[in-house]
Amino acid sequence: MSVLVYINSNGEKLAKSAFEVVTYAKKIGEVTVVTNGKADDSKLAQLGKYGASKILVDRSFDGIDEQQIMRMVATAAEKVGANTIIFSDDLIGKAVAPRLSVKMNAGLITGANGIPKDDGTVPVSVFSGKAFGFVKVNTDKKIIALLPNSIQPEETGSEATIEEFAGNAGDTRVKVKETKLPDGDIPLPEAELVVSGGRGLKGPENWALITDLAEVLGAATACSRPVSDSDWRPHHEHVGQTGVAIAPNLYIAAGISGAIQHLAGVNRSKVIVVINTDAEAPFFKAADYGVVGDAFEVLPRLTEAVKKFKA
Ligand code: FAD
Repeated sequence: MSVLVYINSNGEKLAKSAFEVVTYAKKIGEVTVVTNGKADDSKLAQLGKYGASKILVDRSFDGIDEQQIMRMVATAAEKVGANTIIFSDDLIGKAVAPRLSVKMNAGLITGANGIPKDDGTVPVSVFSGKAFGFVKVNTDKKIIALLPNSIQPEETGSEATIEEFAGNAGDTRVKVKETKLPDGDIPLPEAELVVSGGRGLKGPENWALITDLAEVLGAATACSRPVSDSDWRPHHEHVGQTGVAIAPNLYIAAGISGAIQHLAGVNRSKVIVVINTDAEAPFFKAADYGVVGDAFEVLPRLTEAVKKFKA
């Protein structure tokens, strides 16, 4: 079966989600990747190791205009005869997949978090990660959007051929005036370790408690929504239902109550550590390790302990 995967290759390096979607697609069939922009061949060739046999690159446009990407992916699907198209369920995937589904008259499955079963049923995450669902579409063509961090990228040792192609992407009405990258070396959705703070930290002047621990651990920093709404921290750090969804190996939450909307974005973390003065805080129910204590005392001690451990 021919499976087409869209990846965004505009960044300095390929995102982890690119390797995830290729690994996922390889479990379904023969994988062709389609992308656009100026990515060099050596960067794209890495996808071969994860199961892509062919990579189609449309160099006529860069950027992330969803209309252009949709037209390019539709052209690629026709070219390779793919009936299954995979996106990462990230900002671009959320914008392009539904549009493509209408254009191609294809059934759309979003929030996928597992490999399709033999009968085509796809496991999905529903109710903000509180439950699993199983979805089957009866159309010939189907589009699946895979939640980031749902599966581990796996190397298969294959090799990919890279082919320039014309995706008939058409014009764009979007003019990019400026591109701003978030501060920090570790993009939050890809971080293995995350240290996060909530309203319990009282104000932005206390954020060194979070950033110091993050620095010694080599972690990314995150926050609850009221923290970013109050401009204590930038909006791209806000995790949860209305923010970034993450699934790191370790999530340390200090001064965060654990509201359901917060948990929706962090409950796929492998290990959750909660620091809260209130032993009844709901977050403790979702925690693997809990410290009932004052973040102003616990965080500096934790930072010192990690420093000693690393020395
Ligand atoms: P609080 O609820 O005020 O909790 C602060 C916690 O800090 C308390 O548990 C307190 O015991 C503890 N604390 C106080 N002092 C200390 C101390 N010295 N040391 C340790 N602990 C201390 N929220 C999100 O985070 N992400 C979302 O995406 C999101 N989306 C939402 C969408 C909708 C539609 C709605 C209605 C709400 C959403 N919210 C979201 C808000 C959410 O409901 C909560 O209000 C929010 O998560 C609470 O943030 P908090 O835990 O930082 O603050």
